[in-house]
Amino acid sequence: MSYLSQPVGRQELEILISLSSVVSEFIMSETVHGVCTFLDQFAPLRTAESWDNVGLLLGDASREIDSLMTCLTLTPDVAAEAIKNKVGLIVAHHPILFRAVQRLTTDTTEGRMLLELAENRIAVYSPHTAFDSATGGINQQWCELLNLQQTQSLRPFDEEKAELSTGAGRCGDLPNPVSLSQLIQQVKGVCSLNHLQYVGNCDSEIRRVGVACGAAAEFMNEAALLDCDVLITGEARFHACLEARTKNISLIIVGHYASERFACEQLANALQTEFPKLTTRASEIESDPVNFG
Ligand SMILES: [Zn+2]
Repeated sequence: MSYLSQPVGRQELEILISLSSVVSEFIMSETVHGVCTFLDQFAPLRTAESWDNVGLLLGDASREIDSLMTCLTLTPDVAAEAIKNKVGLIVAHHPILFRAVQRLTTDTTEGRMLLELAENRIAVYSPHTAFDSATGGINQQWCELLNLQQTQSLRPFDEEKAELSTGAGRCGDLPNPVSLSQLIQQVKGVCSLNHLQYVGNCDSEIRRVGVACGAAAEFMNEAALLDCDVLITGEARFHACLEARTKNISLIIVGHYASERFACEQLANALQTEFPKLTTRASEIESDPVNFG
């Protein structure tokens, strides 16, 4: 006769209930793999650019974690923040180990940082260009911040990738035409910036806006072909600025950090909603290395 076929007393029932909650707590704990799976659905890695280095780049996928941190770039101070806060996983937008390495020693800054992260069993995942292009990714978030209508990608993906996302960069129409200087003021407000760089005539009329976060001024060609009056991007070289002026397309250059960092905070919020048991935060120590004098 089994134990449970006997009448169960109140005390035994309480023990069983508390045991089952302990067991379910154990079963339901989050793993690095679980978060990576969600991130791959949110920003499919197959849509990353071919030159990129994305996905789980450091760590043990099977490891159980109770906290994670997002950041734009994994620098030694951000790594120290993660170690101090006993974070299990860092979701860094920009990839580590971007260039091939043949040794990992304490002789280099990156080597020291990665060895320290490994010693503290902290995993690192980078979505990078997959996150730029994702349906809910950085460029799409820009469209929403500017209330752009009829949005489409600047560079559509091939058929295989197109099932997963519309493509790289975005463009869309403003609800009402504005002057370039009015749009500049709006962008400054969105990014909390006092200064930004721009190319173009302040009085020119802006109807259609292209967006390509990061160092992506080369998207001006696609933006011009799609009749964009302006491309908003993070960085542009001097010769790209000259080219924009020749092509008669305006540029609004907000800085690499401002063009992408806000999305790391949004990502931390999205991960917190998806994984309520995890303590999720965006790095608080990270800051823009570029200052305006
Ligand atoms: Zn970037």
